[in-house]
Amino acid sequence: MTERQRIEDQLDDIVSRIVRQRDHRCITCDRPMIYETATAGHFMHRSNHCVRWSLVNVNGQCWPCNRDDDSVRYEQAMIRRYGEELTAKIKVLARLPCHQSVDDLREIYRELQEIKKQMK
Ligand SMILES: [Zn+2]
Repeated sequence: MTERQRIEDQLDDIVSRIVRQRDHRCITCDRPMIYETATAGHFMHRSNHCVRWSLVNVNGQCWPCNRDDDSVRYEQAMIRRYGEELTAKIKVLARLPCHQSVDDLREIYRELQEIKKQMK
C-alpha cells in the first residue's frame, strides 16, 4: 500500500465516523439511524476526489438508500438540507480535476481530526 492509499483510507474512515456521529437521520428517506448501522453516503461519487472528503458531499444514509444509489432523490435531499446554491457548487467542484499532493491530503486529515475532536 502506498502512502497516498494509506492516507486516503484514513480520510475515508474519519469522514465516515464524523458523518455518522453528526447525522441521526438518513438524508434521503429521513428515517432515524444509529451510529453503528448508518452509512456515509456520497452525493457526488467518491471517485471525484475534490469532494470525496467534503462534509457537505458526504451524509449519513441508511443502508437501503445507500445501496439504491438514487441520485435524483439524493439531489432533492441535498437541496432541502443545504440549499440549491451549495448543492450546485458541490456538483461543479466534483467535476474539476483535483491534484492533491500527499501533503494536501495530510492537511485535510488534520482539519478533519480537529472537527472530530470538537464534536465530543
Ligand atoms: Zn434512507
